Amino acid sequence: MSQDITILGGGVAGLAMASEFLAKGAGVTVIDPAGRPGEHACSWWAGGMLAAECEGALAEEPVVRQGRKAAQWWADQGVEITHNGTLIVASGRDQSELMTFARRVPAAQWLDAAQIADLEPHLAEQFTRALFVEREGHMNPRPALTSLYDRLAASGVQFVTKGASRGQVIDCRGLAARSDLDGLRGVKGEMVIVRTPDVQLARPVRLLHPRFPLYIVPRGDGVFMLGATQIESGERTRATVRSVMELLNAAYALHPAFGEAELLEIGVDARPAFSDNQPRIRRIGDRIYANGLFRHGYLLAPALARMTALMVIEGTEPEDWYEDYR
Ligand SMILES: Cc1cc2nc3c(=O)[nH]c(=O)nc-3n(C[C@H](O)[C@H](O)[C@H](O)COP(=O)(O)OP(=O)(O)OC[C@H]3O[C@@H](n4cnc5c(N)ncnc54)[C@H](O)[C@@H]3O)c2cc1C
Repeated sequence: MSQDITILGGGVAGLAMASEFLAKGAGVTVIDPAGRPGEHACSWWAGGMLAAECEGALAEEPVVRQGRKAAQWWADQGVEITHNGTLIVASGRDQSELMTFARRVPAAQWLDAAQIADLEPHLAEQFTRALFVEREGHMNPRPALTSLYDRLAASGVQFVTKGASRGQVIDCRGLAARSDLDGLRGVKGEMVIVRTPDVQLARPVRLLHPRFPLYIVPRGDGVFMLGATQIESGERTRATVRSVMELLNAAYALHPAFGEAELLEIGVDARPAFSDNQPRIRRIGDRIYANGLFRHGYLLAPALARMTALMVIEGTEPEDWYEDYR
């Protein structure tokens, strides 16, 4: 008989979990009072970069190792992934940031002006030196979440907004689980979406800066996501003028045509994170919590889900991030 699993929360952690448990033959119910994926979830606001190597500039080794598998996992769910790599640039006075990045990210290769012009002609005037990480991808999180939700619902996962849990409970409530999880904190992130026909980029670009690093993710049709602030605060609403100004200033430094772009959306949420910014699979009593995805929701939810499903169904202890508080 198949094992019953109840997942609390239908953000990227909960949906990845549902997919992995379903693949192992479990009967899966997802309870989320907010219903379908939407702006109530932190996952709605993400950039969708699948850039494990670049994240290694600041993140710990397991984040890079586990994150490398994410693009294939999303592609296996039918999600469109663009594999054009990541370009990393810095303005003239911040060149030391590029040197530091190159030291920390072995996969990054130096590009000269001609190579930048080949890859991103629209940045050729602004930058004469850059770094490039080839083996990286990006995706559009909102269609990815909704298509995964629809696919899971069509494959037999029960999605409900309330009701009693059945079988093993896996808690994926993100920041809403903060009162149960010692050490879980919020890291506020603000983002902006703009449209301009005057800039064309084929890949995410990171603009390094000591205080206001920026990434720009092209969404197609002249739409770009500019992200993201990283502020030690659990506040999930209220994008500030200062943050939005910093994001827009950084975009303008990347290409002056962003000054004329149409402002489509300003978004904000707080990322659930532990002190080392690595996730946890934590067992407390009968409940298993999968949380703390920080800025790596799309990058690490597949690995977190795979390890949790293996542990519950096959008894395998997770290779990373497991804590047993029984
Ligand atoms: C501006 C910004 C940019 C980001 N960019 C990226 C990026 O480029 N790449 C990346 O990988 N990550 C990125 N992230 C991080 C990513 O969004 C988070 O890591 C991820 O969303 C966390 O997912 P989650 O499922 O744990 O939480 P959430 O997405 O918050 O999901 C939690 C769910 O739990 C539900 N819930 C709440 N209370 C209950 C309850 N009582 N019972 C049941 N369900 C409940 C909520 O309705 C919600 O649907 C970014 C985040 C921000 C804010």
